[in-house]
Amino acid sequence: MLANKTALVTGSTSGIGLGIAKALARQGANIMLNGFGDVEAAQREVAALGVKVGYHGADMSQPAEIESMMAAAAAQFGQVDILVNNAGIQHVAKVQDFPVERWDAIIAINLTSAFHTTRLALPAMLKANWGRIINVASVHGLVGSAEKSAYVAAKHGIVGLTKVTALETATSGVTCNAICPGWVLTPLVQKQVDAKAAALGLSNEDAKKQLLGEKEPSMQFTTPEELGELAAFFCSAAGNNIRGVAWNMDGGWTAQ
Ligand code: NAD
Repeated sequence: MLANKTALVTGSTSGIGLGIAKALARQGANIMLNGFGDVEAAQREVAALGVKVGYHGADMSQPAEIESMMAAAAAQFGQVDILVNNAGIQHVAKVQDFPVERWDAIIAINLTSAFHTTRLALPAMLKANWGRIINVASVHGLVGSAEKSAYVAAKHGIVGLTKVTALETATSGVTCNAICPGWVLTPLVQKQVDAKAAALGLSNEDAKKQLLGEKEPSMQFTTPEELGELAAFFCSAAGNNIRGVAWNMDGGWTAQ
């Protein structure tokens, strides 16, 4: 379905980004990876699916590095047909205690980076009259939770950016949509499980149950594989006229 297309997925060395990169690779897309940590393992996992794999280590808080990454993707693959804005970080603290540098980093990585990648990817997508921009937002793009001011502000912001990008591309073959997961058991969430286990003296399993029980009626984590399949659906022909949605996959979190 996506042979001869190239997908750039930010923050794809781990968790949801890696799950989406693999789902798109299974559909035949070449993949430009980005992110930190075990880069080689991520490259091996995606390459094993039989597609071409590139990597750029741009820090999503640095606009000049984002520009280099977009230029490198175009140089290596011709152009970026599918852009998945996924890189994200979390910090949990009350507003009055929130470290200012953490606020700035979350807004830069979780929101502003998507503005830069989008503005740089759009000209070639519009010229080709085909493109997919998928923003990994969160249920926190739709509702709030205490102690997550920067994250909730950034995620509501990226849902807004999604709508405006969808409107500006509405008469073209380029679509822009957001995915809003509930809890997904990635390193980002395991840190919150660990904090709960330590604070309440719980086992890892009981801390996970408590986390789910607070918000997610299904009592199940969504998986990176499930989110990857949703991204692949947005990239299919059936997604041609899905524009500007914030599509939750959250076990009923926002139905309450
Ligand atoms: P994760 O920690 O497993 O992965 C984050 C990825 O982003 C990694 O590849 C990391 O290297 C990369 N990254 C972090 N800072 C970066 C930077 N400055 N520049 C470039 N790359 C950077 O986290 P995850 O849970 O897979 O989160 C991915 C996205 O999904 C985030 O936007 C997050 O907000 C969102 N999300 C996660 C959940 C969840 O429950 N895990 C729920 C809703 C939304």
